[in-house]
Amino acid sequence: MGGGLIEDKMAAVKRFGLRPKPVQCCRKHRSTPIEFACMISGELYCRICARDHEGHDDQSMPVVADRVQRSLNELQRLYLAKRTHVIDRLVGHQQEVEEFMGIFYNTLDEHRRLVLEQEYILRD
Ligand SMILES: [Zn+2]
Ligand SMILES: [Zn+2]
Repeated sequence: MGGGLIEDKMAAVKRFGLRPKPVQCCRKHRSTPIEFACMISGELYCRICARDHEGHDDQSMPVVADRVQRSLNELQRLYLAKRTHVIDRLVGHQQEVEEFMGIFYNTLDEHRRLVLEQEYILRD
């Protein structure tokens, strides 16, 4: 198996939740935050762009971020619980993680931070 890939994923899992970044904005509308992920092109876009994606089965970033976060949460738990076991799980989840990471890696931290922030606000 490709050790580099696994190491990359492990690094990503370890970085989980550590680094706040500014919210990422739409590439076409630079003052409008990204809200959707195109399931066809992988493009991340804002609500102004949404009209160009009619008929796509696109997902809102909170939904996508939630799925990614759940996946990473589980991997992180496993990582903390048992380092060797998580390697197996990472290999098992490789396709799913790669798919999400490949498309959403750039905005992952931002949206994860937003989700976490909202959770903290709700708890306080
Ligand atoms: Zn689309
Ligand atoms: Zn836009």
